[in-house]
Amino acid sequence: MSPASLDRPLTLALSKGRIFDETMPLLEAAGIHVTESPESSRKLILPTSSSDLQLIIVRASDVPTYVQYGAADFGIAGKDVLFEHAADHPGGLYQPVDLNIARCRLCVAVRKGFDYEAAVHQGSRLRVATKYVHAAREHFARKGVYVDLIKLYGSMELAPLVGLADAIVDLVSTGGTLKANNLEAVEDVADISSRLIVNQASLKTRTAKLQPLIDSFARASALPA
Ligand code: ATP
Ligand code: MG
Repeated sequence: MSPASLDRPLTLALSKGRIFDETMPLLEAAGIHVTESPESSRKLILPTSSSDLQLIIVRASDVPTYVQYGAADFGIAGKDVLFEHAADHPGGLYQPVDLNIARCRLCVAVRKGFDYEAAVHQGSRLRVATKYVHAAREHFARKGVYVDLIKLYGSMELAPLVGLADAIVDLVSTGGTLKANNLEAVEDVADISSRLIVNQASLKTRTAKLQPLIDSFARASALPA
């Protein structure tokens, strides 16, 4: 690797929204300020107060891809996203720290009044719509329940309402969206939070710049919120 590429700033991949917002205090704890917001500036590459660090703003589910290919040295992604990515791309991503941010639960939810217990005990097939097909498949396999999985990319709450599926597997934090759509969570699949992920080659070749940031994130995320 040339000296010039070792001098380039570290690149941290983030999604906008809750992960970006909850990462800012972790960067502040490392003495790094971000003056522009991805919402207002529309820029996809954001500088920081440190010439050693820039941010790139990508879709939440694309964060592991940027890090795995080394287009970003490190990134922050939910365990939901990491689990789906790992199923298709085993190995390759180092996940040193659970940052305890963007917490929520991955749940099974159904229309209010739908008898979920009866449906899963009959041994009949359950139609499940979700963005999280790998997590859903593993969950129902553990329970010994046969499922037909239908892959969706968003607005999962709609599926049970219009007869596309009996159940959905989706992220829930307050439950407000489920309630507004006459759905209820009936089972937990996993507790979700976001992890720091690091490109393996960057970790080896750029340790001097990366390790202090990894350590600072680990310290800051261990503090009570
Ligand atoms: P997009 O909205 O661009 O389709 P996305 O829904 O995956 O992508 P976000 O809604 O920004 O992206 O969510 C990013 C991450 O935030 C999720 O992967 C998850 O780890 C976390 N998260 C925490 N709470 C929630 C919640 N209530 N709903 C959705 N995601 C949540
Ligand atoms: Mg979203």
